[in-house]
Amino acid sequence: MRYHITTYGCQMNVADSRRLAAELEKLGYVPIPRAEEADVIVLNTCVVRQQPEDRATNRLLSLRPFKEHRPATVIALMGCLVGVKRPQAALRQRFPFVDAFLAPSDPRPLINLLIDRDAAGLQAASRAQQDELQDGELVLPRSEQGKLVSAYLPVVLGCSHACAFCVIPQRRGPERSRPPAEILAEARALALQGVKEITLLGQIVDRYGLDLREKVTLAGLLHRLQKVDGLERIRFLTSHPNWITDELLDAVAGLPRVCEHIEVPIQAADDEILRTMKRGYTADDYRQLIARIRRIIPKVAIHTDIIVGFPGETEEQFRRTYDLLAELRLDKAHIARYSPRPETLSSRKMKDDVPEKEKEHRRKALDDLQAEIVGEINRLLVGTEVSVLVEGQYKGRWRGRTRGNKLVYIEDQRDLRGQLVDAHISWAGPWSMQGTVI
Ligand code: SF4
Repeated sequence: MRYHITTYGCQMNVADSRRLAAELEKLGYVPIPRAEEADVIVLNTCVVRQQPEDRATNRLLSLRPFKEHRPATVIALMGCLVGVKRPQAALRQRFPFVDAFLAPSDPRPLINLLIDRDAAGLQAASRAQQDELQDGELVLPRSEQGKLVSAYLPVVLGCSHACAFCVIPQRRGPERSRPPAEILAEARALALQGVKEITLLGQIVDRYGLDLREKVTLAGLLHRLQKVDGLERIRFLTSHPNWITDELLDAVAGLPRVCEHIEVPIQAADDEILRTMKRGYTADDYRQLIARIRRIIPKVAIHTDIIVGFPGETEEQFRRTYDLLAELRLDKAHIARYSPRPETLSSRKMKDDVPEKEKEHRRKALDDLQAEIVGEINRLLVGTEVSVLVEGQYKGRWRGRTRGNKLVYIEDQRDLRGQLVDAHISWAGPWSMQGTVI
């Protein structure tokens, strides 16, 4: 029995697909590269912008004739296109050939369907698998055990903020922190299965634990994860400017396994735009935050996200974002054009009035600026030694990341997968560097 999962979108979806794959493999399914040859086909979807939603929908519709040809095939739709509270009747009407609809981070409807459908054949196998399930040991699909060097580990699901442009709260629901014991068990299991680096995930990961009865913070969780045998590195994303505490920054500065890498979106740097986005801070608050982070963690790498062309954004307001990015010289900026999303405040109340051509012009201007800045920052590393965790091979070269999450390519005859090596940097560009093992 073969399965195929296509994953669109964010790290959270990657983690959800991995968990689903592990559950399917416990039932005896094996992965297969082509969806058309699978017995179970899953699309794990993203709707953060129109483009990924259209791609997933088109792919799903392209599977319809195939389902008509092989009715026994199970097709499942998962993720933010399904959402946690959307009425499924509308989805069933739109996609009548889909057998199961899975909310984000919830594989059960498909697993239960397969167990029920294959009850006869699966009895013996699944009972054994069930035992393993209860131990909660198998967190990686067998097909990835011993191969995966770096893995995502969700710690906060959903989000209780309400940024005007964002569809995530509607699709993933309010924030729910996972109990620390469950996270620690999963981290130990990942380390036992060969993972060297974990990245803790949350829409606002800094708010970890605020909704739990047990008093625990993200900093507290990092202190506990620091003791997990076998882990070399720990990262976390995504932060929010209003929730980064000194306790957290001190933990990053003080815990050897926690990487000096912070992902904190600013989205824009004009106060009026930030106010209508409902972000809850000003450009100067953000400027002071970056200074605080750099004071407490000297060698920190800071990444941000920016949306250009938000409703009403004038050239002058965009210029403020450009100028602040030039001033702060961050290590990475993901730039996206504003895309109105259904059910969001901005799509309901604000006119998408910045022309697409102008959005693209602004996106390119920031991208070019950022390429220049990162190129200059990375060139300062030429001639220095950096620690690299090697994740795998790409076009015959080893590929890994520094503690600051910078990409490094290494040519070496030895098997370096999963190795933490010291590399001498010989070349650096905006997007990657070249090094040799010392
Ligand atoms: S913090 Fe804002 S942008 Fe981030 S997931 Fe929550 S609502 Fe969306």
